[in-house]
Amino acid sequence: MRPALLLAPLLLTTTSTLAAPLAIDCGRLLDVKSGRLLEGMRVLVEGTKISTVQKQSEPLPAGARRIALSGATCLPGLIDMHVHLSGETAKQADAFRDALSLNPADAAYRSVAYAERTLLAGFTSVRDLGASDGLNVSLKRAIAAGHIPGPRLFTAGKSIATTGGHADPSNNLSQRYARGLGTPGPMEGVINGADEAAEAVRARYQEGADLIKITATGGVLSQAASGQNAQFTEAEIRAITSTARDYGFRVAAHAHGLEGIKRALRGGVDSIEHGTYMDDEAIALFKKNGAWYVPTISAGRFVADKSREPDYYSPLVRPKAAAIGPQIQSTFGRAYKAGVKIAFGTDAGVFPHGDNAREFAYMVEAGMPPLEAIRSATLAAAELLDQSQNLGRVEPGFSADLVAVNGDPLADIAVLQNMAFVMKDGVIYKSTQE
Ligand SMILES: [Zn+2]
Repeated sequence: MRPALLLAPLLLTTTSTLAAPLAIDCGRLLDVKSGRLLEGMRVLVEGTKISTVQKQSEPLPAGARRIALSGATCLPGLIDMHVHLSGETAKQADAFRDALSLNPADAAYRSVAYAERTLLAGFTSVRDLGASDGLNVSLKRAIAAGHIPGPRLFTAGKSIATTGGHADPSNNLSQRYARGLGTPGPMEGVINGADEAAEAVRARYQEGADLIKITATGGVLSQAASGQNAQFTEAEIRAITSTARDYGFRVAAHAHGLEGIKRALRGGVDSIEHGTYMDDEAIALFKKNGAWYVPTISAGRFVADKSREPDYYSPLVRPKAAAIGPQIQSTFGRAYKAGVKIAFGTDAGVFPHGDNAREFAYMVEAGMPPLEAIRSATLAAAELLDQSQNLGRVEPGFSADLVAVNGDPLADIAVLQNMAFVMKDGVIYKSTQE
């Protein structure tokens, strides 16, 4: 029902922007750079870009279509640096049945709804950090071409693991089924040794990825014993990062355990995802290398909650979820206070898509001021994406990605969980004001 309702204004707006500029009148506009709330501002949009930001007292340009968000606070479209749009959490029994019976196309159709929910939650750009069957690359193409509504996607393609590691598709599978997969290799994102590491990076270039994701340690949701053992040698990580540089790729490393975090940082990755067991020495390495931390507190909180239900996760996963999940929020608090650079990321898919904005409240709860939390999902995320001149600010020349909420997010960060208006590339996908 919802998609049909939304596609109609989408098409209208697309055609009308060709002729007339849009004038969006914001009760307040949050300038994320200065941290100031500006009263009575107007954002002019021509095509896919912001052309002017001015006071509403200035004359309206001839022929402009005015959209009044008089009671709302406008801010730049939000950016989530860690999502998995190709899947969503399910009870273990359902997840195993799906894994055995569904085709890649089933996952693809489901991801259409996940992408739309993410966009309507105010996230106009996301980094998709790993999917099988080329699904996230195809999703990126479908959204970019305007076939389906969704956030602007930057994707890792298939994440890179070592044999038996977090993101090895044959993990703990019956040999009867594993034989059908053959032995996964660099093309499938599974490597052993520096040469295969380089080959796997080149395979991601070939499949159309925008960045590289490695699983430097065990993880919570893989069917394997440890959630934190180091799974790459430092030489393998160096081969990944140096090859990635040849192709202009940034490297994101999933890592919970301390040894894997340190190897990834020494090996030159750009961001650590989760970072659960980082210590002071690891924090010093972050700062020395200028590496980013993407916390994903939401995923930690969700798996910790679900670990208390007897049948939600398998016996292998449940103790890992109970141990690792609750740690992430306090790690985030320490890393922030120590001055580590932080980019907003949730691991959506581990929990239901569309709930991404809860992360803001968790960040504030752990000691980050609301303005800094919003900056992590705008200015900081844009910097880690190498999009600082295009995304994360409401300024002339930037992509026309604009969202609005009722209330003041600097006073109550929870208002970000209820979007009143969502625009991406000059197209309005949600508006409760008209
Ligand atoms: Zn993830």
